[in-house]
Amino acid sequence: MRRTNTFKLSPTKEQEQKLFLLAENCARMFNEINYKRRQSLFSKNFDWNTDFFYHKYKKVIGSATAQQVTRKNNEAWKSFFALLRLKKQGKLPKHIRKVSPPGYWKDRKTGKRVLTILIRCNCYKLSDKRLKLPFNLEINWKGQNKWKGKKQGRLEIRYDNLSKKWYAHMPVEVEKPPPLPPPLHQLKGDKKKKKEAYVDLGVKVPIMVWVDGEVFGYKANSMLSDWWYWNTEKIAKHQEELKKKNNKHVSKRLKALYRKRKRRFRDKVNKIVKDFMEKCWAKGVSEIVCGDLRDIRKSANFNKKSNSMIHNFWSVGHVYKRLKEKAEEYGIKTVRIDERGTSSTCPRCSSKKIMRHKRLFKCKECKLEAHRDAVGCVNIGNIRLAQEDGNMFPAGVVNGAVARPSLATLHSVA
Ligand SMILES: [Zn+2]
Repeated sequence: MRRTNTFKLSPTKEQEQKLFLLAENCARMFNEINYKRRQSLFSKNFDWNTDFFYHKYKKVIGSATAQQVTRKNNEAWKSFFALLRLKKQGKLPKHIRKVSPPGYWKDRKTGKRVLTILIRCNCYKLSDKRLKLPFNLEINWKGQNKWKGKKQGRLEIRYDNLSKKWYAHMPVEVEKPPPLPPPLHQLKGDKKKKKEAYVDLGVKVPIMVWVDGEVFGYKANSMLSDWWYWNTEKIAKHQEELKKKNNKHVSKRLKALYRKRKRRFRDKVNKIVKDFMEKCWAKGVSEIVCGDLRDIRKSANFNKKSNSMIHNFWSVGHVYKRLKEKAEEYGIKTVRIDERGTSSTCPRCSSKKIMRHKRLFKCKECKLEAHRDAVGCVNIGNIRLAQEDGNMFPAGVVNGAVARPSLATLHSVA
């Protein structure tokens, strides 16, 4: 399991000058290699050779770092070629619309170089307060060394233009899940029974789950209103001011506001995901079956508020990403399945003749009345069962599941 620790660095003035110089040269090297490779790609004779740049830069950034910069560029090109291959086979993930060759370490708007220093895994040492780097640099750091592991990876030191601060990102290979005691019902019998939880991801209800015959989820009301508040009260107002005062569209404050909005959102998502995973774990869930969230933008008519959130694709993608990472920590597997049609199909008789009104879902065929938010995850369960043994869940089970879902507010998990 790979995790990343992030630290804030507090270099002295002198140390900072060194960092700037190193970072400038790392970016120069990366960009020169990239330029040569792009040119060779366009002339249809791709050239991996980078010896020239290695010899040119090893004197200024050290041979280990020169090697890491080359490697970083290699990785970017390899994933570009991998995507090209997928595209040829028609297997490109739907959220990727365009495959383009790796870009430069350069801010698109300001044209400034992106400042990053790469340090090979065996060339740095982290102690309680100090980070020991090549070039006689020993820099004080602040933050939390949250993830401990046997193996530390390539350190990335980045300069953040917004806060004018340096951050170090240290990947570590962490051992498998923390040794939590197994839930009681898992101890009975010799064989560990497989238990699945069916999850529907959404906007108004970020997580809705069906497990143990019970449906529960989390309401996002406060999350949505917070998001909306930041959009209209903070961001839009500031944008107006910018336009009036100096006819500008970007400012540092605006970037900071966007970042803050994102952080607030992510904090809330983390709280929900943590609460959810603790419940799954306590129930002895071994696998979380999650609807694919690709169709979320098309799947329903949302109001203006929700739409504005959905169009920030990362927010929905982020919920899934956190879910997957958290599940990993608890030793729970996650699988994704195609959820097409799960909100417009009757979970009891599979009819498409349905009616939705506010939170009510009604089937015109079998007359099932259900809570609308519960339908999605029960259908995901049906799809999963059909994949495995060609059946649907019995009517009685479905009736019980869709009748009374319980929805927790964010307030109650915070
Ligand atoms: Zn029905």
